[in-house]
Amino acid sequence: MEVTVIGCWGAYPKQNEATSGYLVEHGGTKILLDCGSGVLSHLQNHCSLEELDAVVITHIHADHIADLYSLEFAILILTQIGKRTSPLDVYLYCENPDKLAFCFPDYVYVHPIVIGETVSIGTVKLDFSENVHDVPCCAVRLTSEEGRTLVYSGDTGYCQSIIDIANSADVLLIESSFYNWQKGKMEGHLTSGEAGEIAASAGAGQLVLTHFPHYGELEEMIKEASRHYDGPITLASCDMKITI
Ligand SMILES: [Zn+2]
Ligand SMILES: [Zn+2]
Repeated sequence: MEVTVIGCWGAYPKQNEATSGYLVEHGGTKILLDCGSGVLSHLQNHCSLEELDAVVITHIHADHIADLYSLEFAILILTQIGKRTSPLDVYLYCENPDKLAFCFPDYVYVHPIVIGETVSIGTVKLDFSENVHDVPCCAVRLTSEEGRTLVYSGDTGYCQSIIDIANSADVLLIESSFYNWQKGKMEGHLTSGEAGEIAASAGAGQLVLTHFPHYGELEEMIKEASRHYDGPITLASCDMKITI
């Protein structure tokens, strides 16, 4: 299984980059995790929109969903001109998917994510758990046919459920929205130290921090996480590839 970081910024994209978006590939299966601002453009550096099998949206905050509506138009047009032959499956976690602004139900199939129900997309199985965030939000565990695992946190505050779903994951890709000095000031997100604690408690094989703030020295986040977790820690970056 290979993961490509399409975007790694929280809230809004840095110049020429994107907010949350991660392309997961296994065999011929191509899955996009979150589709934030700037993701649709950058995604095409790594995957043609004709080939994308499915999108998984952890929650409906703009930095995770903003480009999904443009992607819907792309699927419509690519289908009309004969370049794409199948609808796009969108798995989405929110209170009421019917209230979202999708226009073309024949081209984009929306599937509500249900915690506890496993989803199969091509050769990858996906399981979900509920996070602590100010809107409904889920974490995703992806398991390849070979049993290799990626856990992507979405947005979350510190909670037992993210530790549980990340149990023994080969790679934990987890939000790190704040520095340790901000601990307790913002709910529904993690500090880098908390991300390290979760990786240690879960026994994750590798920690990748993401969903960054636009201030401070991001390298500090590695130091803060490493006080709790002694495995390999890296900062996500645009176009970075992780083989699992
Ligand atoms: Zn976010
Ligand atoms: Zn959010």
